[in-house]
Amino acid sequence: MPKFSEVIGQESVHRLLEGALERDRLPHAYIFHGSPGVGKTTTAFALAQRLNCLEATQGDPCGACSPCRKYERLQHPDLHWHFPMPASVKGGKRAEEIRKQLDERLEPGIFRFHFSTAASIAIGRDKDTRAGSVAELRHQAGMHSVEARTKVFVISEADRMTDAAANSLLKILEEPRPGNLLILCTSNPGALLDTILSRCQALRFRDLTEDEIVALLQEKLAEPPSKKEAQLAAALAQGSLSRATGLVEEEVVEQRDRAVRFLNLLPDSPESHLAVADLVAMKDRVLIERLFDFGDLWLGDVLRVLAGSSVPLANRDAEALVREHARSLTIPEIKRRMAVLKEARRALRGNVYLPLILRDVIEKLHDRTAIPVG
Ligand SMILES: [Zn+2]
Repeated sequence: MPKFSEVIGQESVHRLLEGALERDRLPHAYIFHGSPGVGKTTTAFALAQRLNCLEATQGDPCGACSPCRKYERLQHPDLHWHFPMPASVKGGKRAEEIRKQLDERLEPGIFRFHFSTAASIAIGRDKDTRAGSVAELRHQAGMHSVEARTKVFVISEADRMTDAAANSLLKILEEPRPGNLLILCTSNPGALLDTILSRCQALRFRDLTEDEIVALLQEKLAEPPSKKEAQLAAALAQGSLSRATGLVEEEVVEQRDRAVRFLNLLPDSPESHLAVADLVAMKDRVLIERLFDFGDLWLGDVLRVLAGSSVPLANRDAEALVREHARSLTIPEIKRRMAVLKEARRALRGNVYLPLILRDVIEKLHDRTAIPVG
């Protein structure tokens, strides 16, 4: 279990928590909000451990006492974690699904927890957290803690609670019991009921900078990416470490190179027919959306060069090529092409026939007679 001091970028949140701990003035409920993968869940677990460590010094848990060891395996009986799960997954597959969810939720490859199916983790009963799992939470919240001073409930993606679940949770918040701490984590606090928001203390987790993400990827991953891969992933991850971690596992440099080739395809050329056929064969709209994202990132860099911006390029490993493209394009033309990609992304999500989207976007990326935007 990482300590506060090891969660990068959230120093101001941690200072607030330290202050509350020192004065023994913790609220009954927190809302941790911010982009996915910026350290909300990790901080929630670190706080639970810190609260119940027998030998905590200077804000950090000792990591060695009996409660600490249980928290580090996510097996403390007074730590309850709820997250949305597909209801359709049952039996043996369920343990597998939980394992998968844990890997995804615990910043994959960075903080490894040992998990056995006997872990004391309460799992939401449905894809969206339903009243059933919150009823379970209410039951747990009403019981005395097994051994800890503070029983901690962590609810991930709290915005995905159904109305019935949210109303049920509200009852817990309206009659808080001493010794319970609820932590609702969400990237979309606006979707929570006002009555829930008003009963929790909200702490905002900031987006990580690209440099912070690059450093984390290179320091913490078991198989550290190259600087070039880390930079590209960080540029595309929009402040989220977990998104960046997922990206470095997917050969980002190759994807970027493919996107650059795609941007320069001539409509109706043999190369463009081949590219469309390859992309359609992948049957993966997420990967194709990623292709458009990389295209957008590239055009953004070309735009930056033309505008004389001093912000470092996302594709700084390919700066010479970015500059070459900048020589043959104008700012309005780049903006027009970025709008084409945006439109294509929308079509992709709208389930438009894939070959049609691809042929259309190749055509439009080269249509210089169209009216420029902006
Ligand atoms: Zn300890």
